[in-house]
Amino acid sequence: MLAPFEYHRPESLAEAAALLRALGPEAAVYAGGTELLPLMKDGLIEASALIDIKAIPGLGGIARGRDSALRIGPLTTHRAIERSPLVREHLPELAALEANVANVRVRAAGTIGGNLCFAEPHSDPATLLVALDARFTLVSVEGVREIAAEDFFTGLLETARRPDELLADIQIPAPAPGSGVAYERFKTHERPSASVAAVIRLDDGAVADCRVVVGSVGVRPLRMGRAESLLNGARPSDDAIAEAAEAIRAEVAPTEDAFESTDYKRQLAATLGRRAIAAALARAGGESDHDR
Ligand SMILES: Cc1cc2nc3c(=O)[nH]c(=O)nc-3n(C[C@H](O)[C@H](O)[C@H](O)COP(=O)(O)OP(=O)(O)OC[C@H]3O[C@@H](n4cnc5c(N)ncnc54)[C@H](O)[C@@H]3O)c2cc1C
Repeated sequence: MLAPFEYHRPESLAEAAALLRALGPEAAVYAGGTELLPLMKDGLIEASALIDIKAIPGLGGIARGRDSALRIGPLTTHRAIERSPLVREHLPELAALEANVANVRVRAAGTIGGNLCFAEPHSDPATLLVALDARFTLVSVEGVREIAAEDFFTGLLETARRPDELLADIQIPAPAPGSGVAYERFKTHERPSASVAAVIRLDDGAVADCRVVVGSVGVRPLRMGRAESLLNGARPSDDAIAEAAEAIRAEVAPTEDAFESTDYKRQLAATLGRRAIAAALARAGGESDHDR
């Protein structure tokens, strides 16, 4: 049963920010409620007040912003992203990812902002957005600040968002020309057991830039610095991909849980890493002869 709470429905960002500041950390932002409400019912989250942000104009929707970046409002549901013609055209990997989040009921109510702010380790979008170098806009009574997705996720269910801040915007830069994007996941439960995102740019047949991120196996999405160093400057080949995958196995920081051992998670990360890197290279126009 839900414990009693105050309910607020602000109609502007300024009003929401003022409420968050006045009510303090006991108040919770309420978007789709797919994480929040079940946890409140189970007594695992005690919120003295809910600030329902669904009446604030401008927090939903998808548009193309500066430098062709995709701008996604935090209230946009997974389902809306999955079906968005803009996302399908400009970032089909994100649309495909969203089509496999949870089930259609959760996708229809759950928002991308709620997913990111909750920072559950098995988040699909978090992993891809870190690889894509997305930026998040946070708003409070003190003003507006931007933070890189990579710096936003700080630990298990922890982010750099202060309790009085609201996630107000998500900007995903358009991948540079010559880039390939790939996202690979493995799931047997509701949420992924492991996932790897790779964004790789080729120049003159060699890797000029890359970001490889492993999600779901640890407490937060993690960039694989060693795999990235090995790939940078390399020409696409089975050997280069296999070496990078082995670097992922060594570097990833899995946590033990009731479902999978840390060794198994390392194996999943290495296998998905190999597939994601091969796919990103192929999409970037490389000559990978890797047999996926
Ligand atoms: C059965 C099930 C299966 C799932 N499977 C997957 C999966 O396969 N992959 C995956 O990635 N996810 C999965 N999820 C997670 C799902 O994506 C999230 O539940 C959903 O996106 C959360 O969004 P919401 O709007 O419901 O958030 P809410 O429940 O409303 O909020 C979640 C948290 O974020 C805070 N919050 C929300 N919006 C903001 C904001 N704009 N600013 C600041 N704080 C905010 C809230 O205060 C709360 O702490 C699954 C969830 C369920 C229940």
